[in-house]
Amino acid sequence: MKLLREVRKSYLQKRKIKEATNKAIDYYKKSRNGTTKLWANLYNDGPVGKRVYNAITDYVHGLSERCGYCQDRIFHNSNSNIDHILPCSIYPQFTFVEENLVRVCMTCNMIKSAHDYYVLSVPTGNGYRQHTSAWVCYHPRHHIFSQHIDRLVVQTNHLHFRAYIGKTSQGKKLCSTLLQKVSEFEVRSTANPVVAQAAQKLSQFIQSKGSMPTEAVNKLLQSLVRKT
Ligand SMILES: [Zn+2]
Repeated sequence: MKLLREVRKSYLQKRKIKEATNKAIDYYKKSRNGTTKLWANLYNDGPVGKRVYNAITDYVHGLSERCGYCQDRIFHNSNSNIDHILPCSIYPQFTFVEENLVRVCMTCNMIKSAHDYYVLSVPTGNGYRQHTSAWVCYHPRHHIFSQHIDRLVVQTNHLHFRAYIGKTSQGKKLCSTLLQKVSEFEVRSTANPVVAQAAQKLSQFIQSKGSMPTEAVNKLLQSLVRKT
């Protein structure tokens, strides 16, 4: 269990390693039995629980400097959170499964919340799906972002705006469920309302074309946009 190794690594004293190991195993077992709310409970479970929570969080944060969904660079941990890709309220058995955890920005975390984009049609039991095509939506730990989604950034003096174009069915699903809302949320919070409205229209237009911009839009985008 990869996460347990990370928890143990964060300690120097043997006695404390044992304490933390017992705590982590206890939570892991409860999660496999279907207990919910364990992630939040762990944080509030005394100094040992908090330390185990922090060790897991630090490890997942260290895996990427970008948000697993919008791909924005995360400059500070205050804008960083852990997302359970399959929400732990619906799939408690994956609360402490390493590949179900991803670093995300606060905006994506807030908008995704406990939504299930994956809707597994067959009961999964305790085995986490490995095959990339098994996921109906882009999975940040199993897929490569650029293979599924184009990310476009409009950068002017007044605006930093991102638009997303899905290239596969999984990429399109993430665009329609999350990324369109993320880019529009950012636009709404932009100071200049005229620019914000124009950017919002552009985003809606791209989405209305089923994520396939026409030649004319491509030309417009090329003049405005740098691809990252
Ligand atoms: Zn994000």
